[in-house]
Amino acid sequence: MKVAIIGGGISGVSVAFKLSKLKDKGVEITLFESSSRLGGTIETVHKDGYDIEAGTNGFLNSKPFTLEIFTEAGLADKLVRSEDSARKRFIQRDNKLVRLPETGLAFLKSPLISMKGKLRLAVEFFVKKGSSADESLADFIKRRLGVEALDYLISPMVSGIFAGNPEKMSINSSFPVIKNLEQEYGGLIKSLLSLKRRKKGNKKAGPGGPGGILLSYQGGMGEAVKDLAKVCVANGVDIKLSSSVDEISKKDDKFTVKVGKEKHQFDKVIVTSPAYCSSVFLEKLDKELSETLLSIPYSPIFVSGLGYDNSDMDDSLNGFGYLIPSKEGRDILGALFTSSMFPAQAPKGKKFLRVLTGGDTKKELMNKTDDELLAVSINSIKDILGVHKDPSFTYTFRYDKAIPQYYVGHGEKVAKIESACSNIGGLYIGGNVLYGIGVNDCTKQSTLIAEKIASEL
Ligand SMILES: Cc1cc2nc3c(=O)[nH]c(=O)nc-3n(C[C@H](O)[C@H](O)[C@H](O)COP(=O)(O)OP(=O)(O)OC[C@H]3O[C@@H](n4cnc5c(N)ncnc54)[C@H](O)[C@@H]3O)c2cc1C
Repeated sequence: MKVAIIGGGISGVSVAFKLSKLKDKGVEITLFESSSRLGGTIETVHKDGYDIEAGTNGFLNSKPFTLEIFTEAGLADKLVRSEDSARKRFIQRDNKLVRLPETGLAFLKSPLISMKGKLRLAVEFFVKKGSSADESLADFIKRRLGVEALDYLISPMVSGIFAGNPEKMSINSSFPVIKNLEQEYGGLIKSLLSLKRRKKGNKKAGPGGPGGILLSYQGGMGEAVKDLAKVCVANGVDIKLSSSVDEISKKDDKFTVKVGKEKHQFDKVIVTSPAYCSSVFLEKLDKELSETLLSIPYSPIFVSGLGYDNSDMDDSLNGFGYLIPSKEGRDILGALFTSSMFPAQAPKGKKFLRVLTGGDTKKELMNKTDDELLAVSINSIKDILGVHKDPSFTYTFRYDKAIPQYYVGHGEKVAKIESACSNIGGLYIGGNVLYGIGVNDCTKQSTLIAEKIASEL
């Protein structure tokens, strides 16, 4: 059986790895990647002693998928555990950094939410269960937990994960676990109490919380994808770089994948490219599928890597980083304290952080030039982090379309896409387009697709 994989990001490379284990059963894999490198939004640039992540910081070990793939590939030894201090996360409130509380007692004492806001949170216990219909994340949170929880707990978290807008995002598609807790237990507090009773002694963070340890890789996440790809090649996967798929068609149970003037025949096709790219090459195969993919919006992100001499900054880079609620009216989404999480990613004597700008709520900022956005990033952190000088090192990345946004109604798009794929037969949409944008979500989809194909052999 010949299988084509479109896209060489973590999704494409991980499904290639999983399928490469079926070589003895006659599965032949070709991976097409349009750019000259693998990794997609995962890229690590090595410069002046810094490992600068363009996108992904790492992944949590609380979900098994990515960890399992790197372990099976014999690469687990190269995974790097973040420092314990990375558990410390901060939210900016009233121009100060407030630590995100990790325990109930710390939450009660925390100035992050006012007493009125805390009382409103407690009222959640009595809020009636809503319908199972989709609604915006903002409406769900306001209904259950109140406006302050939306502004200072949920909205910054959403900026940090999706660079998204809670007023538009679908609760059902973006945070299905939270919605399911309401549906299953009647409320979030009720679900916590019930789960606590069942899992006495489990020290993990609560449902929806960032449980687990953040992992990266020696030399950064870009190296992780490269090394996984090397294992794929050793297992017989044919990886074709600088090979942009232009068109896919199907006749008599065989797909034809067109790359420039070349045409290749396959039995199955796995698509892991961004929705707006896939929409183009799937148009001939299924116009409605192509239009549905195109209708999935993306948020833009600008990333500034900033290196400082230790003495140029107060000793405040201790933790994971901080996120800024849009209510605080800042131009940046937040900053990640890279050298605190992963000290090996910065030279000795330097502090390194990555500042994120843009997102779905601040798209207009992307009209600025790279230099202007860099200046915005540098100026935005000065007062809050006690920075005395300009950075001695800078590096920037711009993504005009960084992260797919699951707006209200995303579930209907997913159903249409799945139904189109099942009608076509042998076509799979993986990646971060349908079911989750985290690295673990991507590797979960890759694992499930590989398992489905294996079950059909
Ligand atoms: C700034 C940023 C920070 C992030 N931080 C985190 C984080 O800390 N933790 C986390 O879990 N997740 C994070 N994410 C999300 C996560 O990185 C992505 O969801 C994930 O890497 C997507 O991988 P993918 O392989 O599905 O898609 P992509 O990485 O987008 O790869 C798709 C590939 O398809 C290729 N392609 C496109 N068109 C074609 C074509 N016609 N033919 C062939 N190839 C094509 C592209 O060149 C690309 O290489 C972050 C994302 C961004 C943007």
